[in-house]
Amino acid sequence: MSQTIFNIALDVPLNRIFDYLSGGFVARVGNRVVVPFAGRNLVGVVLSIAETSNYPIEKLKPVSHVFDDVVFDNETFKLLKFCADYYHYPFGQALISTLPLRLRQIKPAVSRKQFAYQLVAHADIAQLPARKVLMRRIIMALQASPILTEAELALISSGWRKAILELKNLGLVTAQEEVAIKASMPTSSIEPQLNNEQISAINSVLALTHNFKPWLLHGITGSGKTEVYIQILQKILSEKNAQILVLVPEINLTPQLEARFRNRLSQYPLVTLHSNLSESERLQNWLAASTGAARIVIGTRLSVFTPMPNLKMMVMDEEHDGSYKQQDGMRYHARDVAMVRAKQLNIPIVLGSATPSLETWFNATKGHNVQKQQYGLLSLKQRAVENAALPNIFCIDTAKSPTENGLSPLLANALRERLKRGEQSLLFINRRGYAPVLHCNACQWVAPCMRCSARLVVHLSQKRLKCHHCGHEQKIPLQCPSCGNADLHPTGQATQRLTQTLENLFPTARIARVDRDSMRNKDALTDLLTKVHNQEIDILVGTQMLAKGHDFPHLTLVGVIDTDSALYSPDFRASERLFAQLMQVSGRAGRADKAGEVLIQTAFPQHALFHALISQDYVSFANELLQERQVMQFPPTSYFALLRAEANDYAQVQQFLNLAGNLARVISNQVMIYDPVRPQMERLKGLERGQLLLQANNRGALQRLLKAWMPQLRELPIVAKIRWSLDIDPLEF
Ligand code: ADP
Ligand code: ZN
Ligand code: ZN
Repeated sequence: MSQTIFNIALDVPLNRIFDYLSGGFVARVGNRVVVPFAGRNLVGVVLSIAETSNYPIEKLKPVSHVFDDVVFDNETFKLLKFCADYYHYPFGQALISTLPLRLRQIKPAVSRKQFAYQLVAHADIAQLPARKVLMRRIIMALQASPILTEAELALISSGWRKAILELKNLGLVTAQEEVAIKASMPTSSIEPQLNNEQISAINSVLALTHNFKPWLLHGITGSGKTEVYIQILQKILSEKNAQILVLVPEINLTPQLEARFRNRLSQYPLVTLHSNLSESERLQNWLAASTGAARIVIGTRLSVFTPMPNLKMMVMDEEHDGSYKQQDGMRYHARDVAMVRAKQLNIPIVLGSATPSLETWFNATKGHNVQKQQYGLLSLKQRAVENAALPNIFCIDTAKSPTENGLSPLLANALRERLKRGEQSLLFINRRGYAPVLHCNACQWVAPCMRCSARLVVHLSQKRLKCHHCGHEQKIPLQCPSCGNADLHPTGQATQRLTQTLENLFPTARIARVDRDSMRNKDALTDLLTKVHNQEIDILVGTQMLAKGHDFPHLTLVGVIDTDSALYSPDFRASERLFAQLMQVSGRAGRADKAGEVLIQTAFPQHALFHALISQDYVSFANELLQERQVMQFPPTSYFALLRAEANDYAQVQQFLNLAGNLARVISNQVMIYDPVRPQMERLKGLERGQLLLQANNRGALQRLLKAWMPQLRELPIVAKIRWSLDIDPLEF
C-alpha cells in the first residue's frame, strides 16, 4: 500500500528534515502543519510530499493537524536553503524564525480583515440625535481626518465597533479593507523636474529590468536618491501585479520615507513590516505581501525573507547601515540575502547610500563579478534642490578652544547666533544618560558593572547607575565604596548633561533631547519631528537616532560633541562607520535655502577622516580605506568567520576554542586560523567571552572548511558546558 509522507521543516536545532505520515490529512507543499515531536506539539512547514521515506515507515508518526492558511513558495524555500547553508544554521530554525509570531503558534492564522472608514460625501452630523455622543465624536474625527483605521478608532473609544456599525447602517460611513483604502488616499505631493544625473540613473536602471543587475546609487543626502527610487518604482509597478520590496534600516526613525512612498505611489497597496507593529498587524501585512495583495512592501531586515509571488525589484536604502546585520540566531546580512534573492529571481536591485559600505564600494568599482554580474555605479553629485548648498564643515581644535562642560566657546557662540537668527541647531552626541562614568577623585575608583567589562552610566534624573550592556541598575552610592569619600563626580558628557548645560547657558531656548530614554513611547519621535517642523524647537540634542533621514528645513547648524574615541578604535571598521555617521549627521544642516554649518569638536583636527569629510570626498576616503584593508587582508578583500563562545569560566571557553582551532587546522591549510582571543568586552551579562577568527582569501575555501568543521564542533563534549555561535562575515569583533 502506498503511503503519503510529508517532509517537514521544524524549529529544532538539528540540521535535517523530518518525515511524517499524512495521517489522512491533505496538505500542499508550503502548508503549515502540527506534529508531535519529543513529547511536544510543534508547528512545521511541508517542504515536499513523497511516497517513500529513508526511515522505516512503521516508525513514522502521523501529523496531527494541517492548516491550510499559508503557502510558502519554492522561491522562499530556495532562498532559506541558501542562507541555512551559507550561515551554517539549521534550515528549519531559519525558516520558522522568518515567520510572524502568529504563524509560529499552534492555531490557524485567522487573518481578520482590517477595515478603515470614511464619511460618505454629504454626511450630515445634524441627522444624529444629540444623545449619540460617541457617534458624533467619530463623525467629527472623520471630518478632521478623512480616513480612520480600526486602530485609530480604538483610540477614540473602546465602544467604537458598535457605533461605527450604526453609522454604517445609517448610511453615513463606508468601510473598505484597510490595504485598499490606504492605497486610494488622495495624493498631494508634486513630482519635481528631474536633473540630468537623476534622469540618467533612472534610465540606466529601467533599461534592464528583467535581469539580475545590482546597482549602487551613490549620492549625498539630499541629492535626490529617494526621488530616483520612486520614479523607477512607478515604472516597475505599472506592470500588472508587479510587487516591489523596499528595505530600510529602521522604519520608525524614518517616518518621512514611508509617507513619501505612500503619497507618490498612492494607487498601489502598501504595507510595512517591522518590529513596531502589533502581532496582528504584522501577520496581516505579511499575508498581504505573500498573497500578492500588497504591491509595495517597506520593511526592515527580516522582511527580506517575506514571500512575494510577483517580486520584480528590490531597493535597499542606506545600504551601509549596520542594522541590516542580524546579531543573533541566524546571523545574516540582509544586503547579502537580498543580492542572492535578486539573482535567484533574475531581477534588479538598487542599493542607495551617501557612504556605501566598503563591501559595496569594492564591488561597484573594482569591476569585480558578484554572483556573476557586474555592479552598475550611478552617482548623484549635487544636491537636488536648487540653491541648497553643501554644508560648510569645520573642525574646532579643542586644544585651542578648550571645552567647558563639553562645549567649546566657538560652538557656544555659533549656537547663540542661530538663536538670534531664529534658526535651529542640532548637537550630536552618541551617548545617552547623564555622564558615562561615576568617578572618585580621592582614589580614582569608577563605578563598574559587576556582570560586564563596562562602566556604569550615570542617569542623574532617576538617581541611578545603569549598565547599557546588560541592563543592570543600581542606586547612585552616597560615598565611594572603595575609600569612603563622599565626593563622587559624574565625569564626561552624555545627552542629559549636555541638555542641562545648554539650558543653563540659554535659559529661553526651547531645547529637546532625542535618545532611547526620551523616545521610549512609540509616537514620541513623530511628535517631536512635528514640533521641529513647526519651529517650536530651537536646539536638538541627540544620538544617532537623529542622524537618520529626517528633513529639517530650518536647521542650519550641526555641532559634533565628541567622536575622538572612534578615531583610534581597535575595531577596523570604526573609521568607516564614523565617516558614514558624520556625513549623515552633517546632511541634516542646510537642507532648504539656508546654508548649513557643521562644527566638529576634536583634539585631532588634522586626522585624514576630517579632511575627507570637510571636502565631502567619500570616494578618496573609501579608496584609501580599501587599500588599507587590502594590505591588512581585511574584508572586503578577504573573508572572515568568527567563532564566539562564552561561559562562567574562561578556562572552558579557552579549551573549546583551542580544540576548535586545532580541528580547523587539520581540515584546511587555505584558511588562516588565529589563536583564541578575548573580545573588547571580555565579560558580558556575567559570562566570560572568547573568540576565534578564521580568515580566507576566497569564500569557497572558508565555506568548505566550515561545512566539515561545524558537525565536529557540535560533537565536542565541552559544548554542553558553554554557549557558542558562528558569525559569518561578522561586523563586530
Ligand atoms: P535623498 O534621498 O538623496 O536624501 P531626496 O530624494 O529626499 O534625496 O531629495 C531631497 C529633496 O529634494 C526632497 O525634498 C525632494 O523632494 C527634492 N528633490 C529631489 N529631486 C529633485 C529635483 N530634481 N528638483 C527639485 N527637488 C528635488
Ligand atoms: Zn574613592
Ligand atoms: Zn552590565
